[in-house]
Amino acid sequence: MIMRPATPEEIKRFYREEWNKKDLPDFITHTLSLREFGFDLDGSGPSHRYNQFLTLEQLEEFLRVRAPYSAYASVALYENPRKREGWLKADLVFDIDAKDLPVKPCGCPKGQVCYKCIEQAKQVALEFADVLRRDLGFRQIVFVYSGRGFHIRVLDEFAMRLEHNERQQLVSYVTGAVVPTDLSLALGYSKVFRERAAKLLRLMNEEKLREVVKRRAFKNLLRFKDQIVQYLLEGRVDDILSLEGIGAGTLEALLTGLARINSEFTDGKVTVDTKRILRLPSSLHSGVSRKCMVIKNLDSFTPDDAVPRFLLEAGGKDAQH
Ligand SMILES: [Zn+2]
Repeated sequence: MIMRPATPEEIKRFYREEWNKKDLPDFITHTLSLREFGFDLDGSGPSHRYNQFLTLEQLEEFLRVRAPYSAYASVALYENPRKREGWLKADLVFDIDAKDLPVKPCGCPKGQVCYKCIEQAKQVALEFADVLRRDLGFRQIVFVYSGRGFHIRVLDEFAMRLEHNERQQLVSYVTGAVVPTDLSLALGYSKVFRERAAKLLRLMNEEKLREVVKRRAFKNLLRFKDQIVQYLLEGRVDDILSLEGIGAGTLEALLTGLARINSEFTDGKVTVDTKRILRLPSSLHSGVSRKCMVIKNLDSFTPDDAVPRFLLEAGGKDAQH
């Protein structure tokens, strides 16, 4: 189904006829009055901040009357959200936006999305969540489709209490953004890094490889790419140096480059900023005409599951243009 901006009339119709407070997830409704709400009323940016709603009915009234272009709620809970004062805790979030993926085999330009790179973003979200569960022991992990990508929201109490620096370390860990000192360890960060580095290397084409390594060495990397991927997965990093024409300098440049690119699969600033506002599940992403929504089964999810009624009804007409 086509992705295109919604008209002001369609946005109004969405909030009048389709939006339902029952579509708000519990983690929002149970903390409603402690969150700051922000809105982009007309598509010019989320400048209408510092809003508080004491009841669901107040939020409902606001959305129906104002029909905002975008709606957001803070990841943080505050004693006084109207002033962003009295910070209590914040959802731990990862924002994986298909438009910003650093390597996109779909070929659509950076800044745009198609179903293929949204699917790629979904796989990244699943992989991050695996690490969050397996290595870090988080249990309350919620996936949200944001319109152009996915949000992971970790709601475990000890995740929500993490502060700035701890979130910074955590995002580096989950994304594989730092080259580990012991690359061969079978468990823990070394494993996460090698898996992420191997996955990324597999996706990289000639042009992208050129960004990380210089001329001559690059040819050898390209030639042995599959072998290097295999060695990374098996923890046999030293064996990469036995490949013809790949020296310590080239390997270091490769690993450092992979680490840097891996850090770009999520916007780390979103994870680290404990006062960030994030698109409100149940609201409309007017830029692409999709509902931002909590996903029950991420494996089988496609953006067609989030098509608002107005687009479904206009679907046949749009497809001809
Ligand atoms: Zn794409």
